[in-house]
Amino acid sequence: MPTTVPRDDGPVDSLVPYPVGLILDARRVVVVGGGHVAQRRIPQLIAVGAEVVLVSPEVTPAVEGLATAGEITWHRRRFEDADLEGAWYAIASTDDPDVNAAVVAGAERRRVFCVRADDATRATAWTPAVGRHAGVTVAVLGQREPRRSAAVRDEILEGLREGTIVARHQRDRTPGVVLVGGGPGDPDLIAVAGRKALMEADVVVADRLAPRELLGELPADVELVDVAKLPRGRAAQQEEINRILVDRARAGKRVVRFKGGDSFVFGRGFEELEACRAAGVPVTVVPGLTSPITVPGLAGIPVTHRGIAHDFTVISGHLPPGHPESLTDWDAVARLRGTLLLMMAVENAPAIARALLGGGRGPGTPVAVVCDGSMPGERTVFSTLGDLAEDLEREAVKPPAIIVVGEVVAVARGVHAARAARG
Ligand code: SAH
Repeated sequence: MPTTVPRDDGPVDSLVPYPVGLILDARRVVVVGGGHVAQRRIPQLIAVGAEVVLVSPEVTPAVEGLATAGEITWHRRRFEDADLEGAWYAIASTDDPDVNAAVVAGAERRRVFCVRADDATRATAWTPAVGRHAGVTVAVLGQREPRRSAAVRDEILEGLREGTIVARHQRDRTPGVVLVGGGPGDPDLIAVAGRKALMEADVVVADRLAPRELLGELPADVELVDVAKLPRGRAAQQEEINRILVDRARAGKRVVRFKGGDSFVFGRGFEELEACRAAGVPVTVVPGLTSPITVPGLAGIPVTHRGIAHDFTVISGHLPPGHPESLTDWDAVARLRGTLLLMMAVENAPAIARALLGGGRGPGTPVAVVCDGSMPGERTVFSTLGDLAEDLEREAVKPPAIIVVGEVVAVARGVHAARAARG
């Protein structure tokens, strides 16, 4: 007789799992129970290519969404022993201990390893706390202490991300350029892929608005090129940047071009991409959180709000309205009813306000100016179109700032809610 599960006794501490990485691509995994445990596990199974069959009379909306999208097969009924036929792996995650026991028993007979969500001592497989970083999978198995496993995993992942656990031989060594958008400034607001690219870089070419703190974390042997220190003049500077990117990549280096926000939102990122392509240098893009949406959001101002603004428009204010090189139709902008998000607009704000007022926007239109978004000195100045020029001057507002024009500003300040409450 083979050993049978469930075991009648035996504390969990006496069970020592043998760790293994299963390759589940195109292999059937049967999940019984469609609650929150399944909701957490199924996306991980899908991500590794498993053929997921779910058996459950009821499921959470998220799990139902996966079934509707055809990402899993869902049998909407109670578990039957035959469900385990053809499975390589099973997960018993119902809230009924008897059903879970039946799943484990059926799996045992077929020699299919089976996780049991409600009682690990009676299972033949345990789910570790899992995370991935730079091609490494970290899996931590604790004894009866899932929170501790998750905490250990998080420590390891953080160490890998931040470079306090250094495994540099793991680095991606392919030469080329990665255009990384760094987000609005707070080092926590960069994409994981962007952080990874930074940790793997041989050369980092950084803009003034790129999150500074992240540059401090770079290993000592990384070459840091500070664009703010390159010769002045926008055109010459851009050519010089393009040349540095291409030269370093051709010399076999991994180069990160590091900017604030997103590289393709008033960031000249596409010019750099074209320069790399023209030179035959491989170039990839990691998007960043762009400031016109993120910075108001951090200040508690939504760019859209139901019943208030159904569109938002992002505009560069680096040229004043009427400037011969301006590509913006300010009369058309003045007629828009949605939210306006003005970038690089502090200097020209008085002229822009005049153009919007002249085009028909009311002087009482609420305005918020969010300066240094996500950075230690972040502050918001509230104003109106009519008073904007005066308020900016009195408050000595300096770039970088996002100027938000529209009723969403009043929503954020609770004006609409207060009005509604008053009836
Ligand atoms: N590529 C960037 C924008 C570069 S243009 C992005 O996607 O966000 C520079 C302008 O962006 C600034 O003049 C300002 O209007 C805005 N900006 C960028 N970061 C900001 C921040 N942290 N706070 C406020 N405005 C910011």
